Amino acid sequence: MHTFPKSEVTLTPRTVSLTTRKGVEVRRTLPHRDIFMIGAWAFVDHYGPTTSEEMSVGAHPHIGLQTVSWLFSGEIEHRDSLGSVQLITPGQLNLMTAGGGIAHSELSLASAPLHGVQLWIALPKAFRDVAPDFAHYGELPVINKDGVTYRIFVGDFLGASSPATIYSELVGVEFTSPEAGTVEIPTRTDFEYGVLVDEGSLKINGQGVEPGQLHYIPEGNGSLRIESQGGFRALLLGGLPFEGKIVMWWNFIASSHGEIVEARKAWEEASSRFPSFDDRVNHRIPAPEMPNLTLTPRPRSRVS
Ligand code: MN
Repeated sequence: MHTFPKSEVTLTPRTVSLTTRKGVEVRRTLPHRDIFMIGAWAFVDHYGPTTSEEMSVGAHPHIGLQTVSWLFSGEIEHRDSLGSVQLITPGQLNLMTAGGGIAHSELSLASAPLHGVQLWIALPKAFRDVAPDFAHYGELPVINKDGVTYRIFVGDFLGASSPATIYSELVGVEFTSPEAGTVEIPTRTDFEYGVLVDEGSLKINGQGVEPGQLHYIPEGNGSLRIESQGGFRALLLGGLPFEGKIVMWWNFIASSHGEIVEARKAWEEASSRFPSFDDRVNHRIPAPEMPNLTLTPRPRSRVS
């Protein structure tokens, strides 16, 4: 049984150039050196608003996770190895369940600057190999309360439920306000949470948090106090602390080094585990070389 930080901590993003996302730098707050996961949320990439015309992401594989695409502005055309073709716009959710294996590509359309997040949800071990799936949710619950608008894209919040299919207890909510104010957000005492600030400077439980930062709140809190001097946009991500250890490498989440090696080989050999598909990006991203070491499954924190 490992222990975990019992105090709040603000995580500052690192800037990452993705092998899969040409010309776009992302601000990554998870995994972080100290905190790998919040609930099953295993990956938080925050990008844009871009100034370039277009962002394309060639075909690449995933296993063992769900990807959550959530936009603040812009449009992306998603295609995958199940044959899905889907446009996503702000306020909608694209949820791709990789399970045993899926490949996808993304083409952003030049209608508006691209600005949003790409999140990964680790699948619990019992569901890591579920059949791949892609779902688009065009309508999600929206709640207006005390001057704040909440868009619930995953889980249950303020009595509303996202229709998205997930495999552990989680919540994902965008919350925005056009003006200054103070709000108490109810939280579950058995959940840990992160608040990713996109716009505005917030005080979260009295701690200053700037755009791009992810503020971590451990279990045991029944509410969050958010103070803002002006309009803001932020994401609330929370969940039951994740059970078990995972290996994350490139676009894969698995239980062991060997499973990662197998998935990498299947992609490199264009095996039927990742069926090919047609898209307008017309580029297939090769897997990077594996590091010269054995990847070790890790718990949600390095503190133990
Ligand atoms: Mn992807």
